[in-house]
Amino acid sequence: MDQLKNAIIERGSVVSDGVLKVDSFLNHQIDTDLMINIGKEFARLFKDSNITRILTIETSGIAPSFMAANELSVPLVFARKKKSLTMNNDVYTSSVYSFTKQVTTEIAVSKNFLSPDDHVLIIDDFLANGQAALGLASIVKQSGASVAGIGIVIEKSFQNGRELLEETGYRVESLARVESLQNGKVTFIKEPTTLHI
Ligand code: 5GP
Repeated sequence: MDQLKNAIIERGSVVSDGVLKVDSFLNHQIDTDLMINIGKEFARLFKDSNITRILTIETSGIAPSFMAANELSVPLVFARKKKSLTMNNDVYTSSVYSFTKQVTTEIAVSKNFLSPDDHVLIIDDFLANGQAALGLASIVKQSGASVAGIGIVIEKSFQNGRELLEETGYRVESLARVESLQNGKVTFIKEPTTLHI
């Protein structure tokens, strides 16, 4: 997705060899035009997958999932990182090790918002080692629902997340695939040109 790649090049910065900072348009300040187009692209990629619900993780996954859910006319559910006071014990939980924060967090989703009939699209802002996506997939499985696929805004292809998810049998669609962040420079994996009719 060229608009996204241009934003990464022009407005992103490399914090260390492994970490990309995109808080000027994706996860702190939000470029709404870009976010709308990201949502539309996810919807286009998964339009034939019979999605019934989108599942993401707070906070950064919510914005890119919102427009996709709207376009696909399905509800959007986000996993919470802290159990809220109004959440009773009827929750599915999973432990997720955070690549950027280097801590393990418990995530939770109310049992009211996932059912065995659901075919769920999981969306997140980044894919690094796949722990967030696997935690969300575990919650989907606990509910008896199925995973339709995993949509990622920025994949860091030099980490093993995609490999892990594909080994598990999941379809992974990333809108930008970063090949390297070495020496402060972002390079992308070259995708074959596709014609959208
Ligand atoms: P994973 O669980 O795949 O190891 O990492 C994905 C999660 O870590 C995402 O939810 C994202 O919030 C965070 N993350 C991983 N790599 C980066 C990065 O390079 N930049 C930012 N801003 N977040 C990242």
